Amino acid sequence: MESRKEKLIKSIRNIPDFPIPGVQFKDVTTLFKDPECLHILSDLMYEEYKNKGITKVVGIESRGFIMGPILATRLNAGFVPIRKPGKLPAEVLEESYTKEYGIDAIQIHKDALSDDDVVLLHDDLLATGGTMKAACNLIRKFNPKGIYVNFIIELVELNGRSIFDKDLDITAILEL
Ligand code: AMP
Repeated sequence: MESRKEKLIKSIRNIPDFPIPGVQFKDVTTLFKDPECLHILSDLMYEEYKNKGITKVVGIESRGFIMGPILATRLNAGFVPIRKPGKLPAEVLEESYTKEYGIDAIQIHKDALSDDDVVLLHDDLLATGGTMKAACNLIRKFNPKGIYVNFIIELVELNGRSIFDKDLDITAILEL
């Protein structure tokens, strides 16, 4: 019988050469639009984190804004956005980073977290890891009690994991 993860993997659409030549873009909208896949993904993420004492799920713009709040609701945690520059209205902290196709920066509200929080950082996909590494640097400034990192998809060949501290808890629901 097909496993839950196999069903999810089959639902992801691959778009060659998007947004630039050489990138195999993993389109998760085809997973999200399927009610059964969306439910399976929510369950797998919840099962992974239900006993970790997570108080805030932090999602990275923009594809971290889909499963982030769904998971936060199930964990009885709050949701905090990390956004591109110029989008958050109050005082922010910022980090710059290099990604698979360009340079960018990310911001978080200065009052978004406290040192009492156990944070789950979430994004849809781990490629080079630059985005999530910058997000970890932002989160560490709040000195939280714990940091967990989650992706829906890890592109294993790119070895993005290698740029993180070895003791950081990084989980990908699907490895491609
Ligand atoms: P990186 O910082 O290289 O790990 O890039 C991760 C971010 O870029 C994530 O927010 C992804 O949404 C996006 N991204 C990078 N590469 C891909 C890809 N091949 N397919 C889909 N999204 C990607």
